[in-house]
Amino acid sequence: MKVALLCIGDELLKGSTVNTNLAFIGERLLRIGIIPELSLEIPDRRDSILKALDYAYSKADTVITSGGLGPTSDDITKDSIAEYFGLPLERNEQIEAHLTAWWQKLHPGPTPLHWNRQACFPAGADIIPNRFGSAPGIHLEQNGKTIFMLPGPPAELHPMFEEGMLELIRNKRKEPVYASLTHVVGIGESIVEERTQPLLHDGVSVAYCASPGHVKLFFTSKNEALLNETTNRAKQIFAGDILSEGVSTLPEEVLHLLENRKCTLATAESCTGGMISAQLTAIPGSSAVFLGGAATYSNELKQLFLGVSETTLSKFGAVSRECAKEMVEGICARTGADAGISVTGIAGPSGGTSDKPVGRVYIGIKFQSTTRIFECNFRGGREQVRNQTVSRALNELRKLLLEREP
Ligand code: ATP
Ligand code: MG
Repeated sequence: MKVALLCIGDELLKGSTVNTNLAFIGERLLRIGIIPELSLEIPDRRDSILKALDYAYSKADTVITSGGLGPTSDDITKDSIAEYFGLPLERNEQIEAHLTAWWQKLHPGPTPLHWNRQACFPAGADIIPNRFGSAPGIHLEQNGKTIFMLPGPPAELHPMFEEGMLELIRNKRKEPVYASLTHVVGIGESIVEERTQPLLHDGVSVAYCASPGHVKLFFTSKNEALLNETTNRAKQIFAGDILSEGVSTLPEEVLHLLENRKCTLATAESCTGGMISAQLTAIPGSSAVFLGGAATYSNELKQLFLGVSETTLSKFGAVSRECAKEMVEGICARTGADAGISVTGIAGPSGGTSDKPVGRVYIGIKFQSTTRIFECNFRGGREQVRNQTVSRALNELRKLLLEREP
C-alpha cells in the first residue's frame, strides 16, 4: 500500500496557515508503519486538484486529502475529485440528517446554496462521520484507486482520523504490518540511533521523530514476535530514559510520577516565563498535582515572590546557580509543594557576556529534601534555548522522581 497526501487550500501557499495536517497525518501513519510517498500543497483550484491527483496516483494507490469540503464557493475538493473519477454528485439522506442535526445547533441555519453543496456526495462513496463539523469525510474506491477526503480544520480532521480512518487504512493492507512506539527522553537523536543500530536486522525497520529532548522510536515489522522482541530490547537499552506505558509527553510523565507518589509540584520560571506551567496545565487533570507557578522575570519579583536574597542577586546575579537554588527552594517553601522546578538564564539574542553567554541557563529541581542545580549551555536562538530549557528541566525532575519509590 502506497499513500500520497494532498493538502488543499490557498491559505497553505500564502503562508497564513501552517500545514499541521501533514505533520499530524504523517505521525499517525508512521505509528502503523506507513511513510507517505509524497505530500503536495495545492490551491483551491480545479485544474490543480486534477493534475495533483494524476501525479499522486502515479506514485501511490491511496490518496488522503485535507481541506475544501466546506460549503463556501472556494471549497471545491469534492466536486473536483468526483469529476476526476467521473462520478455524479447525489443528494445523500444520511448526510441530510447529519446536517439537520448540526445546523439545529447553529443560528442562522444554512442558506439553500450551502445546504445543496454540503448534502451532495459522490455516488457510491462511503461517509466518514464528522462529530465536530458539518462536512463529513468521504471514502471512495474506484478502479484500484482509493481516496479519503477529510475537512481542513484540525479540530475536525484529528478525531476523524483517529476514530475511523486509521483502522480503515490498517485493514486495507494485504499483509498486516505491526508497529510499536517507544518514547525516549533526554537523549539526542544521533545517540538514540547509534544505540538502536545493533537491534536492527532483516524484517524490522525503524524510524525516528525528534523534538527537543524527546525522540519517538517507531519499529515496524510484518512479524509480530520479532517486533515485540526488538521493542523489548530497545526498552532495556533505554531503561530509565523512556516514558511510562500509555504516556506520550514529558510533562505528562512528570505529572504521572508525582501523582503515583501523591505529591504536588510548583514552578518558578524566569527565562521561560511560564512555558513549563503552560505545558503542565495543557494536560487534563494536572490540577491534582500542579499547584501553580510564578513567572518571576525581574529581580524584584524573584525577591518578592520567592524570597531570593538581595546578597545573592548582587553577588552572583540572577542567572546563577545560587539564584536557581533559592528560587526552587522559595517556591516550594511558599506553596508547600513537594516538588519544584526553577529556571533562570539568558535566552538571547542579547544579554550574553563572555562569562555568561547566551544559552547559559541554571535549572533547579527539588523533591522533598533533595535539591539539584544544573548549569546548561544551550545552543540556538531564543526559542530553541527556551524549548530546550523546558524539556531539560522536566526531564531532570523526572529522573529525580524515579530515584524514589512511589
Ligand atoms: P470548512 O467547513 O471549515 O470550510 P474545509 O474542509 O472547507 O472546512 P478549508 O476551508 O480548506 O476546510 O479550511 C478551513 C480551515 O482549516 C482553514 O482556515 C485553516 O485554518 C484550517 N486548515 C486547512 N487546511 C489545513 C492544514 N493543512 N493544516 C492546518 N490547518 C488547516
Ligand atoms: Mg472551507
